[in-house]
Amino acid sequence: MIVMKFGGTSVENSDAIRRLIEIVGTEIPRKPIVFVSACAGVTNQLLKIAGLSAEGKKDEANDLISSVRAKHEKLVEELVSSELPRNYLKGKISVYAHELKNLSQAISVLGEVTNRSRDAIASYGERLSSMIIAQALEDSAVKSALVDAREFMITNDNYTKAAPVFPVVEEKAKKTLLPAVLNGYVVVTQGFIGSSEKGITTTIGRGGSDYSAAIIGSLLNAEEIQIWTDVDGVLTADPSIVPEARRIKKMSFNEASELAYFGARVLHPMTILPAIEKNIPVYVRNSRNPAYHGTLITKGEDAEECVAKSIAYKERITLLNLVSSRMFLAHDFLEAVFAVFNKYKTIAHAVATSEVSVSVAIDDTTSLEEMKKEFSEFAEVSDSSGKAIVCVVGDNIRHSPGIVGKIFSALDEIRINMISQGASEINLGFVVDEADLERAVRLLHTELFSNPRSHGLSEEIFD
Ligand code: ADP
Ligand code: ASP
Ligand code: MG
Repeated sequence: MIVMKFGGTSVENSDAIRRLIEIVGTEIPRKPIVFVSACAGVTNQLLKIAGLSAEGKKDEANDLISSVRAKHEKLVEELVSSELPRNYLKGKISVYAHELKNLSQAISVLGEVTNRSRDAIASYGERLSSMIIAQALEDSAVKSALVDAREFMITNDNYTKAAPVFPVVEEKAKKTLLPAVLNGYVVVTQGFIGSSEKGITTTIGRGGSDYSAAIIGSLLNAEEIQIWTDVDGVLTADPSIVPEARRIKKMSFNEASELAYFGARVLHPMTILPAIEKNIPVYVRNSRNPAYHGTLITKGEDAEECVAKSIAYKERITLLNLVSSRMFLAHDFLEAVFAVFNKYKTIAHAVATSEVSVSVAIDDTTSLEEMKKEFSEFAEVSDSSGKAIVCVVGDNIRHSPGIVGKIFSALDEIRINMISQGASEINLGFVVDEADLERAVRLLHTELFSNPRSHGLSEEIFD
């Protein structure tokens, strides 16, 4: 059995869905479970409907509901030719549109939108795309079964970022997905959405369909997890900043995790963890270019010559600088500092320390003022926003002292606010002003990847 996940752009219109059908068609002997996202842009539209409703902008919300409805009706027209299922789907779309209108109405009466109602509304994107795709497969003579992910993706009730309850998910997934797979059906289901133990709809976080697919791949011991997207694989940098970014042919679980964590949107940050658990290879592939092999992500024990594999970045970072104002011992100072981070559940993305001072990069500033108040009892504290973390990732960074010099000499015209080598030793991160971010990433990319041979590195890793 394999798990295949198709992201928003891979199901964005009928041409994309036809490509999906062709790709899935080639994998039928391997018994695929297919996870789909909402069509590109639909989740954003649905969340906008929730926002407009809360602001009392009912007409605008209704217009948007009509356009979501029309988009899916068009897909049905273009993809489903048999009359009965076509009418059935149109009926379903109409029911969903009514439900959305009711939700929108309820939100506008209350004048506020809760995370629980956000999830209820956002779930329609995947529910609409998946039912159309399952029928389109049937229409192409592929036996398919639609399973509602809320039957197996059981989560806590932390709406908009719900955490799956793994033992329950495992039990339910075995019951709801495996029988159909074993009977030769291509199972189609939704990424991103789930249900609380009380049966209320939840979502597991934006971009979470990758994570849904990886969780099920791991719990059901899939042979392989395929993430189909709109680029040729994991690239050496974000192609929107570096158009000449190159495809990485293979990388390790650790490298992919680190990259995703530091902002490479191509994979949801949690995707790789379930795959590591069962050592399941993950392929990232381009649904517009299926002939390409994409990027293979595995345990990757074989030592490679390649030092740096990719550059990621995180924007909207705030840098906190703390200097001990008491006669703390160094470890007491750090303990006091991190107790505050812990108390306010704020993640430190990069840290640099000396005996009496520490710099910490954060992106969640919800509790910044309260934290600063607490810090001021034992430290002088200052903060500056408008920063970005740039992160070079590669398994062998730790074995190559020369790389650090190369990185920073390439950036000598950029102001570096802080440097931090992650404890995993496979990333080297530094903080720059947001205004310098794009230039820094481009300079670094040219240095590291335009001619990796000049560093004695293997070209074979890249396209
Ligand atoms: P999907 O809808 O398929 O989940 P996403 O938009 O979430 O697709 O992720 C794919 C996008 O991630 C690409 O179009 C690309 O712009 C962006 N991206 C950012 N960093 C990288 C990277 N290092 N490698 C590949 N893509 C990246
Ligand atoms: N549709 C959801 C989103 O846009 C989940 C996903 O695409 O992975 O965030
Ligand atoms: Mg994504």
